[in-house]
Amino acid sequence: MPSTMTHPIDRIYQTILKRDPDQLEFHQATYEVLTSLKPLVDQEPKLSEVVDRLVEPERVIMFRVPWVDDKNVAQVNRGFRVQFNSAIGPYKGGLRFHPSVNLSIMKFLAFEQIFKNSLSGLPIGGGKGGSDFDPKGKSDGEVMRFCQSFMSELAHHIGADTDIPAGDIGVGGREIGFLFGQFKRLKKVFEGGVLTGKGLSYGGSLMRPEATGYGCAYFAQEMLTAKQNSLEGKTLTVSGSGNVAQYCVEKANQLGAKAITMSDSSGFIMDENGIDAQKLAFVMELKNVKHGRISEYVDRYKGARYYEHKKPWAVPCDFAFPCATQNEIDASDARDLVSNGCLGVAEGANMPSTPEAIEIFVENKVLFGPAKAANAGGVATSALEMSQNSQRISWTREDVDARLHTIMNDIYKNASLAAERVGKKDNLLVGANVAGFLKVANAMMAQGVV
Ligand code: NDP
Repeated sequence: MPSTMTHPIDRIYQTILKRDPDQLEFHQATYEVLTSLKPLVDQEPKLSEVVDRLVEPERVIMFRVPWVDDKNVAQVNRGFRVQFNSAIGPYKGGLRFHPSVNLSIMKFLAFEQIFKNSLSGLPIGGGKGGSDFDPKGKSDGEVMRFCQSFMSELAHHIGADTDIPAGDIGVGGREIGFLFGQFKRLKKVFEGGVLTGKGLSYGGSLMRPEATGYGCAYFAQEMLTAKQNSLEGKTLTVSGSGNVAQYCVEKANQLGAKAITMSDSSGFIMDENGIDAQKLAFVMELKNVKHGRISEYVDRYKGARYYEHKKPWAVPCDFAFPCATQNEIDASDARDLVSNGCLGVAEGANMPSTPEAIEIFVENKVLFGPAKAANAGGVATSALEMSQNSQRISWTREDVDARLHTIMNDIYKNASLAAERVGKKDNLLVGANVAGFLKVANAMMAQGVV
């Protein structure tokens, strides 16, 4: 293409910036995908029309969530559901309850979800939702009243064949239970397939809590296997101490690795002896039941150290698993990881590495497993939960785990092949974006301009 002409993809990106100038996270997510798609659009220029439509959500729902706290004072939060793309199936994606939630974060997460869901090989579209409600420090009663109010509006927009939310930051089994109870009460129907991440006694799937973290470890194993290496004997740094981090550590331990860090939003702990199964059980109780802080780990395990307001990326490791939140690895963190000889990074969280950090990984040949691929095990197992709900059966733990493992290996294969197809061998970021995009693009073209 002559250099004087603006590339169609650059034009699309300029429109995004103009339309929503303050949505920085959404800019970051679209920039990354659009950059990956350029070589494909050069090969097939017609695809740019699809990209133009794909970057605009099909529907955005924003609503007031009023609730009453334990002191009998009325509170108000803002609720969101972004129904981004339903070309290959009903919208599917989690709900996030965190004070940082805004429309930009919701749109970036829903946009990423389109490609992740497509890449998982399952027939689900992309969506995401949540609220700026902060569950930290709230009583069970307050969380329940908030969830009931949130669902009173959301229930108008979701259903087993239209949009199926699940958990994310701040939304675990307790919240899904309250949300499901309110949905059932409002709709007067037991529609199990409307939410995933449910408790086992009312339609949940075995292995769903484990799925994102286990899937991420399986993916890292596959990245290393392709280089005739493995996780066995490797030292790992992990961030976060929530759902994804916990099960990533559990599976990595089972695969013979040693995780030495975990964190929360206040700081990180380092335990050079490794966070083994017994110590992990302590973290699970601390975080999931007592809702405590990771710093309490060092009171219990004397050899460990706590670093307040610090991230674990300067700790030497063979492999890093960011499992907390977006943009938690910046350029300086990436340089630390490279100079300490880190072989690879698998993203358990969504968009945890900044674009500059990713560039540093790619330049230095650090194996890089992007979130869309590496953390797709959660949504894939959610889709398995939907299948079990619609067939009214429950698969065994071994059965779900085997399916999850196969899905993660297939995702690795598809992303690798797609990277090669556009001349970017070994670049799993480009591969994941291209593979995820192609299926959605084909469906959108077949369905006309809708
Ligand atoms: P949880 O709420 O269970 O845990 C989140 C963890 O990250 C906590 O340790 C939390 O610390 C920490 N954290 C949150 N915000 C920040 C921040 N701003 N800075 C530092 N640490 C922070 O969430 P999940 O484990 O479910 O989710 C973690 C990531 O994985 C998110 O990016 C999510 O989108 C992604 N993900 C989750 C999936 C799932 O199935 N749950 C599926 C795919 C992706 P604290 O306790 O202090 O808040």
